[in-house]
Amino acid sequence: MRLRVLGSNGTYPTPGRPCSGYLVEAGGTRVMLDAGPGTAAALQEAAPDGALDALVVTHAHPDHCSDVFHLFNLFRFGPVARQGLPAFAPEGVAAALAAFLGAGEGHAFHRVFAWRAVGPGDALRVGGIDLAFASTHHQLPTLAVSLAAEGRRLVYSADTGPGGDLPALAAGADLLLCEATLPDGPGAADWPYHLSATAAGTLAREAGVGRLLLTHLAPMLDPARSVVEASEAFGGPVEWAAPGREVQV
Ligand SMILES: [Zn+2]
Ligand SMILES: [Zn+2]
Repeated sequence: MRLRVLGSNGTYPTPGRPCSGYLVEAGGTRVMLDAGPGTAAALQEAAPDGALDALVVTHAHPDHCSDVFHLFNLFRFGPVARQGLPAFAPEGVAAALAAFLGAGEGHAFHRVFAWRAVGPGDALRVGGIDLAFASTHHQLPTLAVSLAAEGRRLVYSADTGPGGDLPALAAGADLLLCEATLPDGPGAADWPYHLSATAAGTLAREAGVGRLLLTHLAPMLDPARSVVEASEAFGGPVEWAAPGREVQV
């Protein structure tokens, strides 16, 4: 199983650094996780043939879903037209996106994507990849995602503060792709819906994961410093999910 980082900025994009989006590939199956700003363009670079088997949107914050609009136009008008692309999101997300477009019943938005609401505890299979979902501690209903294939397992935190069901979902994963939005320090406690790099490292240690990939760093953070902080808490291998990075799970 292979993970490609399409974008990994937390909160807002900066030049050359799109927000959250990841392409997971295993045995010819491709799943896109989140569609933050800039990721529709990055997807075309990562997968020029347009082959995609499913899209997962973890929650309705724009840094995770605003490029759904551009994926819609890409698949509707672009060189590789698509219809009925399976798209999974928490209840209400598809309706909110459709409402922004003014897309009522019969609108192409509902033909390009085949939306299905998923919730904590749900599990499903896309091609050769088994997906499972758990709720996180965030302002909006948000799903962490487990992807298992070929005997390997990747868990993506989406956005979360301490708590929620991410720690249980992450237990024993080969790779944890975990948000680390906040700078370390006393201010972190003021933002209960995100993690610091130290908190991500602690979570990784307690969950017994193999490796940790830090993502969703606030744009003003130094990724190298976040990696050091997470490494000290984890005690295992840590890297930053730099845009364009490919990782074998
Ligand atoms: Zn976010
Ligand atoms: Zn969020």
